[in-house]
Amino acid sequence: MQHFINVILPIPLEKLFTYSVTRAEANFLKVGMRVAVPFGKSKIHTALVAEIHGTAPTLYEAKDIHQILDDEPIVTELQIKHWSWVAKYYMCSIGEVFRSAVPGAFLLESETLILKNSETTVDENTLTDEEFLVFEALERQSMLKVQEIAAIVDKKNVLPILKRLLDKNVILTKEEVYQQYKPKLVRYVKLGPKYQTEEELSALLDSLSRAPKQSNVILSLFQLQGTNHKKITVKELEEKSKSSVAIIKALIDKEILEEFFVRTDRVVFDSTKKTKQLKELNQYQANALQAIKSSFKENKVTLLHGVTSSGKTEVYVQLIADYLAKGQQALYLLPEIALTTQLIARLQNYFGEYVAVFHSKYTVNERVEVWNNVLANKSKAQIVIGARSALFLPFSNLGLIIVDEEHEASFKQYDPAPRYHARDSAIVLANFSNCNILLGSATPSIETYYNVKQKKYGYAQITRRYGNVLMPEVELVDIKELTRKKRMKGHFSERLLRGITEAVQEKEQVILFQNRRGYAPIVECTTCGHSPQCPNCDVSLTYHQYKKQMRCHYCSYHMALQKSCLACGMSTLNTKGFGTEQVEQELQELMPNLRIGRMDLDTTRGKHAYEKIITSFEKHELDVLVGTQMLTKGLDFGNVSLVGIMNADNLLNFPDFRAHERSYQLLAQVSGRAGRAQKRGKVLIQTYNPYHQILQQVSTNDYEAMYTDQINERRLFKYPPLHRILKITFKHRDYGKVEDASAWFAKSLRVAFKDDVLGPEFPAVARIRNLYLKNVVLKIKKEQPLGKTKDYIKKIEKSFNAIGQFKGVRVIYNVDYI
Ligand code: ADP
Ligand code: ZN
Repeated sequence: MQHFINVILPIPLEKLFTYSVTRAEANFLKVGMRVAVPFGKSKIHTALVAEIHGTAPTLYEAKDIHQILDDEPIVTELQIKHWSWVAKYYMCSIGEVFRSAVPGAFLLESETLILKNSETTVDENTLTDEEFLVFEALERQSMLKVQEIAAIVDKKNVLPILKRLLDKNVILTKEEVYQQYKPKLVRYVKLGPKYQTEEELSALLDSLSRAPKQSNVILSLFQLQGTNHKKITVKELEEKSKSSVAIIKALIDKEILEEFFVRTDRVVFDSTKKTKQLKELNQYQANALQAIKSSFKENKVTLLHGVTSSGKTEVYVQLIADYLAKGQQALYLLPEIALTTQLIARLQNYFGEYVAVFHSKYTVNERVEVWNNVLANKSKAQIVIGARSALFLPFSNLGLIIVDEEHEASFKQYDPAPRYHARDSAIVLANFSNCNILLGSATPSIETYYNVKQKKYGYAQITRRYGNVLMPEVELVDIKELTRKKRMKGHFSERLLRGITEAVQEKEQVILFQNRRGYAPIVECTTCGHSPQCPNCDVSLTYHQYKKQMRCHYCSYHMALQKSCLACGMSTLNTKGFGTEQVEQELQELMPNLRIGRMDLDTTRGKHAYEKIITSFEKHELDVLVGTQMLTKGLDFGNVSLVGIMNADNLLNFPDFRAHERSYQLLAQVSGRAGRAQKRGKVLIQTYNPYHQILQQVSTNDYEAMYTDQINERRLFKYPPLHRILKITFKHRDYGKVEDASAWFAKSLRVAFKDDVLGPEFPAVARIRNLYLKNVVLKIKKEQPLGKTKDYIKKIEKSFNAIGQFKGVRVIYNVDYI
């Protein structure tokens, strides 16, 4: 009998690919192990074994595998089942799920890799068409092989192109090795074997009396070791004795000291810290916990709807403790890495070293470690906190999933595929793993609340803040009036400035929210009306004062700020609109003594950048924190008494069916940062439109009213949760091609789906990185079989791909787009 394996390749293939293996290999291999396989002309890929069987493929001759890479599976069968669901539901290949689910170090390939040089910003205008193609592909995929690049530019010899890109600092090359993951070895020292007895030791110290530096090192080692003989690292010794590596090395060479290495995890928790008792829940929290538990008994997805600062986290903690006691794993999903900082600290307080963290700011090696710990079901990774990708870890004994801030849009992955929603995919995972799942929010998504109303989901509620602190008092400040009467100082109303002054006098802190970063989104010449645009994208350049630059927020393009108008030459440049940078600066000028910090994409780039800002605000080294929506999400600061919203209108006027829901959530969440500890907080919302229904609902904290309005509109206009929506985006460098391709596709869809097809339409930003975009939206009735609908669309895509004229147009599916 012949033996075969079907494997998942980390590339967008429709089907699994079959390879032939020997009998011994077939006996050794298990589903979930990696194999290196040849694919295409000369490429070697890392593939994942999905099936082992005896049926030869009919359409091609199965090649032999190159080599087996694992002794044991690194992926579970349950994961493969879940990934298949993700691929099918979100209309991508399982290979794409595989690629994004595992840490990059698991996908080892045997060639020179081309990487983007993230150190330089590239002026796309200096690239030739071919160079641009390579550059663009590297934006989507972090690494490419030379062969893949050859396919992209459709040329055999791509070395000249790569050489030019190297010269322009656009790319880097890297020789790939088979095992990228390097266990971290820590260097320790101890006394050499010759110096174990007291006599030997005093002899040694005598002999060193003329080498004070060296004897100092030995004495420091004694001190560090203390009585319990703990292991001392070279680094500790170096610091303690204030000596140099050279001196320590000399001692090692003389065999007075002996070095040894121990493999350690990169992510370690200080296990000397004592954990704390769980907090006792108040009556409202206890009731909610009861409601959750009884809903879990019925195996229902459950929503914990608790107002901001009602103590939802403490309820989660109690639940986690239950599952931990049963020896089960718990996954705690958060929408934003920024949030993990505070949560890690909170959970480690209770659960110490059981807590592991997994997210994209961790290095590849750190992620491999967490992966392996979860796979081995180690206690040190029994509780995993993570952003959406933590969903794909190899859990084997999952008992509980918590999706905190479930309403957050950032749970949906936008680019690249799989464009999955982590909350929804978590619900499916919970179902597959027979585990419980709790969604939590103060402002649930319309989708989730609808499911509660339909009795599909269970429900628990906390309507009061912990400690009976009142909900913050919301005051709407009409800046239209004030602007007319010229009573604004820059973008600040007197009311807001007074609020800030009072809070700071009381030694309280303030959060200011503005939904744009940079100084001003538009620079305009008041003489001719020209405003600088990005050459690659259809947007105005945002002015960043700190760097004295105009920057595109969609690509890496930037240029120095001009002194005079590029079109007419007059120096009548004026800014329009304002971002966080301007808020910070204006306030600093108005109140020079204020200590102001800023949290937005520009200030949080490094791995620990969030942590630094959050910690310094927590420590009250700052009076005011200005930020974008990053700071609206679940942060818990005890001393904030005032939240100011600089301008609510640009949120409300956003052209999207979710704009009102979003605005409510955002405003309610950012308001919820005020007055969490003792005193009632205050929220000042500056707006041109104080009678807007959403602002009224926010100020009366009336979620129900907002929900009712929104669900009625969604019903009327056929939007989720009553219909499903699928967005198909067409992308190409050529405007005409995008026009024709999207029109053809929409027409084909209309044959079957008639009025449920919208578009094609250009999005608000219709060109990004020199690629034109056009969208077609399909509304799918709930009762319409989803699988069939998708198959039908895929069929249309097949015919589409056969049309020569549309060659090169990218077709991107976004199911349940947000
Ligand atoms: P939410 O997640 O609902 O916004 P948190 O869980 O952050 O609320 O709780 C708000 C604050 O109240 C936190 O500082 C938390 O430590 C405190 N708190 C909540 N519940 C309790 C409790 N049962 N005992 C003591 N403090 C609590
Ligand atoms: Zn741009």
